[in-house]
Amino acid sequence: MNQYDVLIVGAGPAGMSAAVYAARAELNTLMVDFGNPGGQINETNEIQNYIGVGSISGSALGYRMFQHTRQLKVPFQKKRVVKIEPGEPNHKVYMDGENEPYLARSVLLAIGTTPKLLHVENEEKFSRRGISWCAICDGAQYAGKDVVVIGGGNSGVKESLFLSNIVSHLTMLTNYDLTADEVAIRQLRKKENVTIHTYQQIKGFVGNDQLEGVRTLDVKTNQEIIVPCAGVFEYIGLDPHTDFLKELGILNHQGYIVVNPSMETAIPGIYGAGDCNVKDLRQVVTACSDGAIAAQNAAHYLRKKGI
Ligand SMILES: Cc1cc2nc3c(=O)[nH]c(=O)nc-3n(C[C@H](O)[C@H](O)[C@H](O)COP(=O)(O)OP(=O)(O)OC[C@H]3O[C@@H](n4cnc5c(N)ncnc54)[C@H](O)[C@@H]3O)c2cc1C
Repeated sequence: MNQYDVLIVGAGPAGMSAAVYAARAELNTLMVDFGNPGGQINETNEIQNYIGVGSISGSALGYRMFQHTRQLKVPFQKKRVVKIEPGEPNHKVYMDGENEPYLARSVLLAIGTTPKLLHVENEEKFSRRGISWCAICDGAQYAGKDVVVIGGGNSGVKESLFLSNIVSHLTMLTNYDLTADEVAIRQLRKKENVTIHTYQQIKGFVGNDQLEGVRTLDVKTNQEIIVPCAGVFEYIGLDPHTDFLKELGILNHQGYIVVNPSMETAIPGIYGAGDCNVKDLRQVVTACSDGAIAAQNAAHYLRKKGI
């Protein structure tokens, strides 16, 4: 029988940070992930803003975090959680391809998000080699160069404000009008190095070895142009990995996990941490912080139950 005090779903920064805190609280802990430990940072060239580390490749940071959990002897299993049945005294956690559930007195959901993709020509080819989903992370590479931002919602506009202070020229392409909040839109419109093209349908990306531009159709004039650029930032939304949690009533309308400041969901003993939560800043440092808070509160919860 697989029975744990804390079952951590997801071995990204949030899950691994939670694992360290849970292990140090001497809780019987299991961490699972269907992918390799590290989460999204495994796909990140360089992380430059994680305090105390300086510049490091995402995979190296992920490896260090995982080593930390190994030193504390937190078991890791490569599994995908497909269903959770809340209950007392144990929640039942079902893994893909297995009939018997794992039993866990507390469950910590640290399951992250994935950026939505356009699924257009050459998007895959230039993914992470010209096309980025994180301006805070990759913006500095384009200092003094021209970039395109795709998406005119809050993320696209806010990240454009940040990028416009770094790059030479920024072209924003959106499929409708800008949908961000008015204050942010006004600030963006004031920027002299920003051009906004609304009602654009992105057709693809052009370039041989390196990204050279974005092919876009103006759906109002039916004119297709190529916007030359050195880099593209896509902000057309994120998808939290929360489909399997829909029945639990712990998600907001966009599928993010709703938690209080203690990272508690509406279900006692189930916690959310990291990018999958409703939050403002999705970064390694905030994911680690959430993981620590969630594990600490799981420990308090279990102590109150006499565990
Ligand atoms: C291109 C890019 C560059 C970035 N650069 C930076 C940067 O420079 N600095 C910075 O601070 N942040 C950066 N970020 C953001 C950072 O990667 C995230 O904020 C961070 O990884 C969030 O950690 P997390 O643990 O919440 O989620 P994730 O890292 O997404 O980890 C979630 C894990 O959960 C697993 N999982 C999901 N569902 C299940 C399931 N059902 N069963 C089992 N496992 C599951 C996934 O496989 C994944 O490993 C970048 C992001 C991207 C995309």
